[in-house]
Amino acid sequence: MAKRIDVVTAVVGAGPVGAALACRLAASGVATAVIDRVALPPMEYPDFDGRAYAIAAGSRPLLDVAGLWGLLPFAPCPILGIHITDGRLGHPPSPLSLTFDHCEAHRESRSEVPPFGWMVEARSLRLALNARLRTLAPLAVFAPAEARVERAEEGVRLMLDNGQEIAARLVVAAEGRNSPLARAAGIPVTRYSYRQHAIVTAIAHTRPHNHTALEHFLPSGPFAQLPMSPTTIESGPVEHVSAIVWTEPTALADTLYTLDDARFGAEIARRLGPQLGAVRPIGRRFRYPLGALYAHRGTDVRLALVGDAAHGIHPIAGQGLNLGFRDAIALAGLIEDALAAGEDPGGPALLRRYQQAVRARNLLMLAATDGLERLFSNDFTPLRLARDLGIAAVDHLPPLKRFFIRQATGVG
Ligand SMILES: Cc1cc2nc3c(=O)[nH]c(=O)nc-3n(C[C@H](O)[C@H](O)[C@H](O)COP(=O)(O)OP(=O)(O)OC[C@H]3O[C@@H](n4cnc5c(N)ncnc54)[C@H](O)[C@@H]3O)c2cc1C
Repeated sequence: MAKRIDVVTAVVGAGPVGAALACRLAASGVATAVIDRVALPPMEYPDFDGRAYAIAAGSRPLLDVAGLWGLLPFAPCPILGIHITDGRLGHPPSPLSLTFDHCEAHRESRSEVPPFGWMVEARSLRLALNARLRTLAPLAVFAPAEARVERAEEGVRLMLDNGQEIAARLVVAAEGRNSPLARAAGIPVTRYSYRQHAIVTAIAHTRPHNHTALEHFLPSGPFAQLPMSPTTIESGPVEHVSAIVWTEPTALADTLYTLDDARFGAEIARRLGPQLGAVRPIGRRFRYPLGALYAHRGTDVRLALVGDAAHGIHPIAGQGLNLGFRDAIALAGLIEDALAAGEDPGGPALLRRYQQAVRARNLLMLAATDGLERLFSNDFTPLRLARDLGIAAVDHLPPLKRFFIRQATGVG
């Protein structure tokens, strides 16, 4: 490759948001470079490991237009129902629960109604991204590579540690929660630790999940069961599979995480309830510290922040990656419009429009997930009663339910 290339957009960070944005731009013919400091192996574990994303319906167009959805090697599992309950460990869930059916989000006939979203294995998305990154012509991939970035009103220069130079109109910070580009731009970032860890794993169960997700709010943290497609593990095929995202205070998460399979499975069953029959842990176990962050600005001179570089939220509603995908949808659309109109695809007007398109929504989702976490991680009896009544009230108000569904799926 030439020692200097000219592109419209240089994306720093090839995580799911940066890589999907780069594929989306390149698929529309926009010259793009993507740089990641690590090589892009398929995943650290090539087999089923139980990690999955809830990809909301509103994120699907990004993956379609980028040419990624058709490349997913493992079938996504549609989410057709969501059941929300409030409870205490060792007690049955409160009878005042909230159930969302995907048909409630729409007024069309049942057969045409799209799902809320899909559970997509993390390895599946990574394999599709890597395959696409390798085949798109207007896309140059540099990984592993470190970039030194110089931004000025006239343009951006990226000097890579292998001697490669890239000239761009816009640089996109997609480096995740510790963005060196945001830091270099002097963008203040507010961070908050929940003092919780999420345990992520998968289970096999004897009864079908019927494509329904469960969010069970427990005082020590939310416990989510998310439907997955049948899979194959070392011991053979598994018909009924769900992902588990289970939040606990850090010390308790440490203990639970190290239990043997039988006791770990029993703890999951205590939180899940009996509806899926007997459960058995499969896949691997992962543990993530939970925190929120918000960058006070999403732009600077010829710089736009996307994904976790701009905002990190509690996984309580499975929306973190979806927020990043919506940043990518907004930014790609604005870049394409600017190019079509002969405007500067990294100038102040585009950056202002990008801010207007994403900031309010991102802040709202950060506040909503933080508020949910605080509201439900509390065992104070009057508060329990109030939120149970709130859950029951929402369940009986179809317009309010539709509002929540549209916010969560990003459709409409
Ligand atoms: C337990 C848990 C469960 C979750 N479940 C869901 C879910 O169901 N649905 C959902 O929507 N979201 C979910 N999320 C959130 C989701 O995982 C994140 O929002 C998402 O990974 C952010 O993607 P990203 O591309 O912005 O950043 P990252 O995934 O952090 O990627 C950043 C990339 O940048 C690279 N990089 C870093 N620094 C540099 C540098 N200096 N130079 C070059 N490259 C660099 C890294 O190597 C990496 O490849 C969950 C999060 C957690 C913790």
